[in-house]
Amino acid sequence: MTFTARTELNPNPRSDAERDAILADPGFGTSFTDHMFVADWTLEDGWHDARVVPYGPILMDPASAVLHYAQEIFEGLKAYAHPSGEVALFRPDQNAERMRRSARRLALPELPDEWFLGSIDALIAADRAWVPSGGEKSLYLRPFMYASEAFLGVRPSAKVTYSVIASPAGAYFKGGVKPVSIWLSTSYTRAGAGGTGAAKCGGNYAASLLPQQEGIAHGCDQVVFLDSIEQTWIEELGGMNLFFVQSDGTIVTPELTGSILEGITRGSILTLAGDLGHEVVQRRVSLDEWRTGVADDTITEIFACGTAAVVTPVGRLKWDGGEVVSTDGDAGQVTTAIRSALIDLQYGRAEDHHGWVRPTS
Ligand SMILES: *Cc1c(COP(=O)(O)O)cnc(C)c1O
Repeated sequence: MTFTARTELNPNPRSDAERDAILADPGFGTSFTDHMFVADWTLEDGWHDARVVPYGPILMDPASAVLHYAQEIFEGLKAYAHPSGEVALFRPDQNAERMRRSARRLALPELPDEWFLGSIDALIAADRAWVPSGGEKSLYLRPFMYASEAFLGVRPSAKVTYSVIASPAGAYFKGGVKPVSIWLSTSYTRAGAGGTGAAKCGGNYAASLLPQQEGIAHGCDQVVFLDSIEQTWIEELGGMNLFFVQSDGTIVTPELTGSILEGITRGSILTLAGDLGHEVVQRRVSLDEWRTGVADDTITEIFACGTAAVVTPVGRLKWDGGEVVSTDGDAGQVTTAIRSALIDLQYGRAEDHHGWVRPTS
């Protein structure tokens, strides 16, 4: 199963002027490049037919298993234009490995890392002109895998499709690096013990949409979920991990429990915060610790992190009957320093001591 992909170039790509207009103000997740990557898997033949083809709609049988039982996983990573002119990825080996873990949990076939990395290189080679430069822009890559066998029985699909699409990206939150407000969900959890919380699957997001709507109705940007058993321990936001900065300089993030998604940004920050001289601790953090820590200033900064939004300060935690505010204005010093250390590496402005930056071939 060595990886080789054929490329069928788009006969009608967007004009330079159309592409430049999109890259000038890409927004997030609304515009897509001229190509996409596709590969197929069957029980008999394994992974085959790797190809870059013109971006376009997928013809799908209405009985396709993914439409009924949500056997689907995805990844998210970015390609950055470096000052050298190279296009680089940030720790894509971690995305490849996590996609294999997610695949196991969803009873999908594992995609070899060589295929994962090769698929991204092949797509970027075809759509190199879509990698924006300047500002904090990037090309967001969305690998995904779904059950494509047409049948209504409940068992793992014998036919699976893997695909990658790409979308030029500006800031994830329209407000820029402003503190987000967080709604505490007490009626719903995102993921239960033994469930799929640690896998990056669409179903987890489906479960988070109603609480997210509830949060928006209460004037908040995002929702924080507690553990499903004790309703006591902070897990994460719908799609971002959380960090707490203590007044003694220690940086704390909820330890992985099996229902928290292990973010690559989270892992990178644990290392970078250590490089910056902070003690870093992974342990359980209770809702009470958040409330009282902010009130008595033992917690001085809170931030959320993920590939899409990078590092975002958390301003306000709101619940039915109250709120605590960590910051109303700018991001704190520690949040800002960690954010800079991370994006300087991603954008090729700092030396890569950890071997995290991978040029695309
Ligand atoms: C993707 C994701 C994250 C962030 O992971 P990164 O690898 O840092 O992008 C956090 N929580 C959830 C639920 C996610 O799906």
